[in-house]
Amino acid sequence: MTQIPGAWRRTAAGAGLLGANGEVAPTIFAEMTALAAKTGAINLGQGFPDEDGPADVLETARAAIADGQNQYPPGRGIADLREAVSEHQKRFYGLDVDPETEVLASAGATEGLAATILALIDGPDDEVVVFEPYYDAYAAVAALAGARLVTVPLRWPEFQPDLDELDRAVTGRTRVILLNDPHNPTGTVFSQEVRERIVALADRHDAMIVTDEVYEHLVFDGEHTPIATTDGAAERTVSISSGGKTFRTTGWKVGWITAPADIADAILTVKQYLTYSGGAPFQPAIARGLRLPDEFFSQAVDEMRAKRDVLGRGLSEAGFGISRPSGSYFTVADAAPLGATDASEFCRTLAARAGVVAVPLTAFASPEHRGEYATLVRFAACKRTEVLAEAATRLAGLSR
Ligand code: PMP
Ligand code: GLN
Repeated sequence: MTQIPGAWRRTAAGAGLLGANGEVAPTIFAEMTALAAKTGAINLGQGFPDEDGPADVLETARAAIADGQNQYPPGRGIADLREAVSEHQKRFYGLDVDPETEVLASAGATEGLAATILALIDGPDDEVVVFEPYYDAYAAVAALAGARLVTVPLRWPEFQPDLDELDRAVTGRTRVILLNDPHNPTGTVFSQEVRERIVALADRHDAMIVTDEVYEHLVFDGEHTPIATTDGAAERTVSISSGGKTFRTTGWKVGWITAPADIADAILTVKQYLTYSGGAPFQPAIARGLRLPDEFFSQAVDEMRAKRDVLGRGLSEAGFGISRPSGSYFTVADAAPLGATDASEFCRTLAARAGVVAVPLTAFASPEHRGEYATLVRFAACKRTEVLAEAATRLAGLSR
C-alpha cells in the first residue's frame, strides 16, 4: 500500500482524499476512466470531449511547433495570449483587464487555482468557503495550503445555495470564497442574487473571491455573467478559466487568471515555483481560439445544449430522476428510483451491468456530508451524440 509520507498526509486524510486505510487513492476521474478502458464501457465519467476542437486552433499549435515556439514561454504567459484574454474579457463581459499586469497564463485552470489558493492563504486559521459538492481539486488545494475548508451545501435538484447558510459560512476567518459558475458537478448557474450576496459577504469580511469559470462558454439559458462584473467585485476577485472545455483541448492545459495587479503578482510568485511556465506552442493556439468569431461560441453552446437534452432524455427513460443543468458538461441523476442506495457502489458496478461509466457525487463531497449525495450520479454529456444515444440504450436495460 502506498502512503503519502509528508506533512500533507494529515490534511489530505481530513479532506477525504485518501483511501480507507490512508493509502494514496487515484482521483475518481482517473479511476473511472481506467475502469472504462478496462471494460470497454462508454465513458460518461471523466469530462473530456471525444471530438477535436476547431481546426484553426489545432493548426495554430502545429504551426507554432513547426515555427520553433518550443522553449519556455515567459512566466506570465506570452503577450499574444494575455492580449487575447484581455480582448475576450472586454468583448464578452465588458471587463477591462490590463494584459501586462492583470493576466497570467497557467498550466490549466488547475494550476491557476493551486497558485491562487497557495498565494492567498496565510495559515491554518484561514478558511476557504466552497459550495458542496465541489470539484475535487478544491479540497486538495485547500489542504495543500493548510487552510480549513468550510462548505455551503447545494441541494438536489436545483443546487442553488441557501442565502442564510451562505451568510453563516462566511466569517472573519474566511480568506477566500471559492465558487465555480457554471458549476461542476451539478450544472448549476448561480443566480445574480447569489453572486451579489457573495460579493457583499466578501466585502463585509474582507475576503477574496476566487471564481472558477472554465465552463463560461457553456451556459444554456442566456449569457454567462462573471462575478467580477458585479458591483464592487473586480477589486477583490481572481477569475480563473481554461481553454480545455471551450476549445475541446483538455489535454493542452492552457489556462488563465485575471486579477488586480498586486494579486496577480502574488499569484505569479507562487506559480513560478509550480511550473514556472508551460505549453509554449499551445498558448498562441488558445489565443487564436479566444479571438474566434461569435458564431463559434454560439454554435458550441447550441451543440452542448442538444447533447444535454439527448442525455437527459436517455437518463429519464432509463428510470433515473434527473436535474436540469443550466450549463457545463454535466447532468446529475438520482439512481434511487433504480434501487441504488450507494452511488459509489452503483458507479463501480455500472460498467459491468450496463457498459457505461459515470461518477458518484460523493466524490465531490467532504466525508461528513457524503450521505446527502448518497444516490446521486454525474454523467458527462460532452460526447458525440451517437455515443450518448448508445449509452442511453444501454442504460435502458437497467430497469428491465
Ligand atoms: N475546474 C473545474 C470546475 C473543472 O471541471 C476542471 C476540469 N475539467 C478544472 C477546473 C480543471 O481545468 P484544467 O483542465 O484547465 O486544469
Ligand atoms: N474536470 C474533469 C471532470 O470533472 C476531469 C478533470 C480530471 O480528470 N482531473 O470530469
